Amino acid sequence: MTDYGDEGRRIETTAIHAGQEPDEGTGALMTPIHANSTYEQDAPGDHRGYEYNRTGNPTRTDLEANVAALEGGEYGRAFSSGMGSINTVLNLLSAGDHVVTGDDVYGGTHRIFTQVYEEYDLAFDFVDTTDHDAVRDAMTESTELLWVETPTNPLMRVNDIGALADVAHEYDALCAVDNTFATPYLQRPLEHGADVVSHSLTKYLGGHSDVVGGALVTDDADLDERLGFYQNSVGATPSPFDCFLVLRGTKTLPVRMDRHCENARTLASWLDDHEAVSRVYYPGLDSHPQHDLAAEQMDDFGGMLSFEFDGTLEQASTVVEETEVFTLAESLGGVESLIEQPAAMTHAAIPAEEREAAGLTDGLIRVSVGVEHVDDMRADLDAAFDAAAE
Ligand SMILES: *Cc1c(COP(=O)(O)O)cnc(C)c1O
Repeated sequence: MTDYGDEGRRIETTAIHAGQEPDEGTGALMTPIHANSTYEQDAPGDHRGYEYNRTGNPTRTDLEANVAALEGGEYGRAFSSGMGSINTVLNLLSAGDHVVTGDDVYGGTHRIFTQVYEEYDLAFDFVDTTDHDAVRDAMTESTELLWVETPTNPLMRVNDIGALADVAHEYDALCAVDNTFATPYLQRPLEHGADVVSHSLTKYLGGHSDVVGGALVTDDADLDERLGFYQNSVGATPSPFDCFLVLRGTKTLPVRMDRHCENARTLASWLDDHEAVSRVYYPGLDSHPQHDLAAEQMDDFGGMLSFEFDGTLEQASTVVEETEVFTLAESLGGVESLIEQPAAMTHAAIPAEEREAAGLTDGLIRVSVGVEHVDDMRADLDAAFDAAAE
């Protein structure tokens, strides 16, 4: 078993130390960027743990150990993007296999399922994963994977990981959880019975909007070995520099998340009372349909929220164009606040009818609440609401 050195410590300590030892030769504290492609062998086939950078790299090893320890898992694998990690889970499947997943999964996940893997004769069913009967009804004898996101994007639905993992296991299917939105600081899916956790490191784990990356974590040695086979065979592996950047990010994950959550909570209740807003989607609000589940499953409610601006499509566009503290951009999880209109941006890849059916209306606005001062965020939104009303 790989010892990631987390030694039963609390996650704040793990974030800073797991996978990272001062260099024995020099005492340097930080993991070096091992810019390198190949490694000296002592005899043919006799190497010191590394042969070639796609297969393994010491900077990547430290990142994989760090993310695995954060998730409380045994084995970590890093990828050049979150889509690279999702692709690797799909590589486990064969033609004819069936996958059940949520009807509001990340747009890129929907795209790789329907536009890439349906071509390879995998079948996908998209259901409301808060409805466990609907999930059970969708499962068949050929279902090999239940792919879960929670909270979901952009309606912030909260899915019960333990219950869904049980359904998956009844059918001998794998339960994979995309933990990008919650992060392991707030939610650790392996503790609830998930088989594998997927991350876009691009978001909160990197945390500074300066790198794209992905990761998979599992407790199952056989599964990890298969994931490693596809990681090396497909080659969507991260550069050592990217691994270094994410390692730098994860050290402050707990302190950043505390502020993201605090600001989002404040902003959500303010928006909830605002006359320009007809509805707020945030798991931390009492009115959220899965608030109790979120309180149980998560340690806090996260930094993402969405709201319905009470106006036309054009007026909602004006809001996202006018904000200045909130930058109009896709993505999330960085220290700076971002704002976007899902129907026109992140979820544009989902066909319009499906989008409407899933509740992704044109007036919906999603924000990634950053760590700026929340007073500046409120003033910024107020000014944008006024501009849209003119
Ligand atoms: C961004 C994101 C992904 C894809 O990750 P990339 O790093 O952009 O490839 C997958 N799932 C969720 C929930 C995301 O937010």
